[in-house]
Order: sequence, then structure tokens, then C-alpha cells
Amino acid sequence: MYDPLVDANPGRAQPHAPSYWADTAGSPVADDGPVRGNEDVEVAIIGAGYTGLSCALHLAREHGVRAVVLEANQTAWGCSGRNGSFARISGGRVPLVALIERYGADTARQYFNEMRQALDTTRGLIRDGNIDCDAQPDGVYKVASKAIHVESLKREMGLYNDLLDYPARFVEAADLQAVHAGAESFGALHMPDGFSMHPLKLAWGVQRMAREAGARVHTGSPVTAWTSSAQGHRLVTPGGVITARKVVVATNGYTSRQLHPALTGRILPVHSQIIVTRPMSAAEKQASLPGADCMFDTRNLLFYYRRLPDDRILFGGRSAVNGRDAENPLHRERLLAALCRKFPALQGIDV
Ligand SMILES: Cc1cc2nc3c(=O)[nH]c(=O)nc-3n(C[C@H](O)[C@H](O)[C@H](O)COP(=O)(O)OP(=O)(O)OC[C@H]3O[C@@H](n4cnc5c(N)ncnc54)[C@H](O)[C@@H]3O)c2cc1C
Repeated sequence: MYDPLVDANPGRAQPHAPSYWADTAGSPVADDGPVRGNEDVEVAIIGAGYTGLSCALHLAREHGVRAVVLEANQTAWGCSGRNGSFARISGGRVPLVALIERYGADTARQYFNEMRQALDTTRGLIRDGNIDCDAQPDGVYKVASKAIHVESLKREMGLYNDLLDYPARFVEAADLQAVHAGAESFGALHMPDGFSMHPLKLAWGVQRMAREAGARVHTGSPVTAWTSSAQGHRLVTPGGVITARKVVVATNGYTSRQLHPALTGRILPVHSQIIVTRPMSAAEKQASLPGADCMFDTRNLLFYYRRLPDDRILFGGRSAVNGRDAENPLHRERLLAALCRKFPALQGIDV
């Protein structure tokens, strides 16, 4: 697998990595193909994931700027086409209690509201663009994977309710069985906001909106060199040179050390991997995830999972520490073992 700490760029016009999402997304929406010839533009955006595409859409819609998006491979070839599919209120790994202690209640409130707005932006894109991305009803559970985590989840609920005026609620273990059965199920914090969808379909939908608003999306166009002068930025791609007054870097954890000196040594990619089971029987479903909500657990290196519309389970977690090791079967085996620990009824299930 491409490793940004070692490789010069993520390749050129590579197909999507094999995944459940790529298999079930249907036909891709149109893009503008590779760059052909040199061109001067106002804004160039490197990377066609959610960040680059949403940036292009908002620049066009709200500022009349018709940006050009340069993508090395395919639209959403990176994380945006192969993620866990949860759109939820989430802002990193600092627990709410630590956030309040460190920055105070006002800042924590503002931060929380920004995360809610981000979720509303996603909802708004799906609604306004009429994006058919299999969006599921809202509901997120943070599941106590050990009994000793219950008290801290209840404290967290108190902070949400009292400080953020947000209706999170604690679900006792017995009541949780209706949506989350299995062994590691000691109760959960329920958040009413947050939903899952088909991530690749979502990205394609945002691309369609961005192009309709006047942006262009060039796939198969890795930026292989970047120099800057008073005239602007010179981005070299195999098909031509784009000169831009401004550049947006939307390359996420795929940013190579060679893209720009200002970014060298500043990006540390963190890997995550996902397995997807075969469709479950009715009995397996009842003994694992009778509900279809977004689930994640209370481990430090957490697992996230959901039941898909075709009754498979998607199950993800942290894995390889570098790209070269990502295809080691050990990571798949570890995820499967964790899935079966949580849901013993799924022992031996094909993934
Ligand atoms: C397994 C997994 C599960 C995840 N689950 C969730 C989840 O459930 N919920 C959630 O909110 N987030 C999740 N994430 C994170 C989420 O997917 C990312 O934060 C998000 O997709 C990032 O979007 P992006 O547009 O910033 O980057 P990406 O979608 O990664 O796009 C970056 C693009 O830049 C391109 N690029 C890089 N270098 C160059 C170059 N030199 N020239 C041209 N193009 C270049 C790449 O080809 C790539 O397509 C998950 C991530 C992973 C890996």
C-alpha cells in the first residue's frame, strides 16, 4: 500500500482499493479526466476527497471562484471512499472532561457547537444535492466494553446534559440488548445525532454538486512538483502545469513528504482498517447487532462497527503502523478475533 512517509506520491490513475464500498457504489459520476495542457487558475485544490470537493463546491457557490481540483487517482480514492461511514459529532480523541478542564466550559461549548455545525453541513449537502447515499436514521452508541467504563460514561452524560445542554442519555445493559447484544455490552451512551451512509456515494454526490456549481475535478493528475514565485504557484502534473494564485492542500494522511517543504515532517498518517462479514442470518443478527445504529466502544484504540443495510457487519479499528505492513493478514485476523469476542455468535463467520 502507498506509504506517504516513503513514496513520492500516491500514484497515477490507480483504481479504488478493493472494498465493500467500491463494490456497491454503482457507476461513478462524471469527472474532468486528467489535466491536458498548461493552465492559469485562481485556486487549485490538491486532493479529491470530502475536503477538496467540499472546498471546491463552497468556493464556487459562496464566492464565485471556479476552482480546479487535482486528484492523483480517482475521486475519493483516499479515506473518503473507504471509511467507516459514520457522520457524527466527533472532534478527535480528547475526552470531553479533559477538554473542559484544559480550555474551560465556554471553549468546550463552542467546540461542541462547531462539531454539530459540521454534521449539519453534511446533512445539508445530502439534502440540497439530493445525494442518494443510503443515509440511515440518526443514532450513535458509545458502548462500554468493560463494566468499569460505565461510571465514566454516566459522568460524560452529565457533562453533555448540564454543560452542553445536549440530550445524550445512558442506556443500561439490559435495554441495550435490543440494539447491541453480545459479550462486551455493559451499557452505552446514546447520542441522538449522527448517522451512517455510503461514503463513496456521498463523495461522488459532492463532486457532482461541485461540478454543477462550476468547479472542475481532474482525476489521474498527481501533483509531482510544486514551486512558488511572485507570479503564483506552479503545480506540475503529468498532463500539464497548473499555475494558481492560491493552493488548497486537501491530501490528508496521503500527503507525501515531497509535496511541499512546509509540510515535510509535519504529517503522521494513522492507519485504520475495516472488515465486512457475509450477510448474517436472522439469528446471528439478533445475537449481535439487532439495531442498525453507529456503534463504537470505550477502548483507547476503539473499534467502530455497524450493521449494513444488507445485514453484513462492518467492523473497523486501528491496525498497521505503516503502509508497507497494511496488507499483512495479521491485521484482518486481529479485527475478526475482536469481532468474535464481542459477538461470540459470529464465530467462524466469513469476511
Ligand atoms: C478505515 C477508515 C475509517 C474511517 N472512518 C471514519 C468514520 O466513520 N467517520 C469519519 O468521520 N471519518 C472516518 N475516517 C476518516 C475520514 O475518512 C477522513 O477524515 C476523510 O475522508 C478525509 O477526507 P479528505 O478529503 O481530507 O482526504 P482523503 O479522502 O483521504 O483524500 C485525499 C486525496 O488526496 C489525494 N492526493 C494525495 N497526494 C496527492 C498529490 N500529490 N496529488 C494529487 N492528489 C493527491 C489522494 O489520492 C486522496 O484521494 C476513516 C478513515 C479510515 C481510513
